[in-house]
Amino acid sequence: MKRVRIAVVGAGVAGFSSAVCIAEALPSCSVTLVADRFSPDTTSDGAAGIVLAAEFPGTNIPLERQKRWFKNSFDHLLAIAVSAHSPDAGVILSSGWQIFKEVPANKKPFWSEFVIGFRIMTDGELRRFPHHKFGHAFTTVRCDCSSYLPWLQNRFRKAGGQVEKRKVNDLQELFNNFDLIVNCSGLGSKSLVGDTHVYPVRGQVLKVEAPWLNHFIRDGDGGTYIYPGIRSVTLGGTRQEGDWRLHVDRAEAEGILERCSRLEPSLRKAKVLGEWVGLRPSRKNPRVEKEVVQVQGHRVPVVHNYGHGGSGVTLAWGTALDVMELVREHLGEKLLQARL
Ligand SMILES: Cc1cc2nc3c(=O)[nH]c(=O)nc-3n(C[C@H](O)[C@H](O)[C@H](O)COP(=O)(O)OP(=O)(O)OC[C@H]3O[C@@H](n4cnc5c(N)ncnc54)[C@H](O)[C@@H]3O)c2cc1C
Repeated sequence: MKRVRIAVVGAGVAGFSSAVCIAEALPSCSVTLVADRFSPDTTSDGAAGIVLAAEFPGTNIPLERQKRWFKNSFDHLLAIAVSAHSPDAGVILSSGWQIFKEVPANKKPFWSEFVIGFRIMTDGELRRFPHHKFGHAFTTVRCDCSSYLPWLQNRFRKAGGQVEKRKVNDLQELFNNFDLIVNCSGLGSKSLVGDTHVYPVRGQVLKVEAPWLNHFIRDGDGGTYIYPGIRSVTLGGTRQEGDWRLHVDRAEAEGILERCSRLEPSLRKAKVLGEWVGLRPSRKNPRVEKEVVQVQGHRVPVVHNYGHGGSGVTLAWGTALDVMELVREHLGEKLLQARL
């Protein structure tokens, strides 16, 4: 029986989520994940990892589709967070507050129906934040990708998947050995598939030791956040569009610490464990779609899954399920033949 050969390019949270979904759902396929950087060296590894969606400004992705991505991801991560896999996978429940200096036009964001116990903050809770007038209280999930990616890689291996560490300079390199390609190369898509719409949004964070903090605090504009995790607390952040700098900026680090300490004064005595910069692979419309590429007279199917910006951890599993369905559609006939 001839197995359908699938290559997934990218070992970040989009790549491993897609690879696991395909390998587990389509056992008649052989799946190989190819990437030049693996954990702990991907953008996903340093993400603050809070599961919290923002609407993509100006996007043409229908709200119903964004809701489905969020709900599917949330339910998947919630199931891990409340299972025995939680510590190995680095996925935990996380409760806290999202606070606003001005009352937002939309007091109830689209994701509020999916997280646990969403409610408007009480006046008593808001008293802690004298510069803020309004807030959301809820429980979500936090996913530390430096644990989650190795955990997904192990799950992928158990489903028969293989990995290859190398740079792909052109998708044509893969067309001889694979029947279908799934492109999860994040910002790499700029050169790999010539996408001029994908751009970096730089983000800088600090990891501090503050084990007394259990609740997350997030300023509604996303500019300042405090996310307690299993081993450390992540403090952020910055959002700089089109900025490719990967080095830590000292003044920005001090600014982050100062802003977070204003929200949570006990952070002034926290020990700094590390600093990190990452580039969010951003796009007006995250690209989760199929395409057929013509190569030397052959029609080769490609499924894209990249450009999730600051919501890649949040949306990875939901978009990976869409990828799996797109792969299924593409391969309809081939899969039937493989089963014969
Ligand atoms: C400071 C910061 C905080 C964040 N906080 C959150 C958060 O709280 N919640 C949230 O949901 N998201 C958050 N994000 C966003 C999240 O990190 C990204 O959306 C997500 O990591 C993107 O994952 P990815 O798999 O698409 O890309 P990446 O993790 O960048 O992976 C891309 C992969 O493609 C491979 N690749 C690229 N080009 C090639 C090539 N030519 N050949 C072979 N391999 C290639 C790379 O080696 C890598 O393995 C944050 C990001 C930053 C920077």
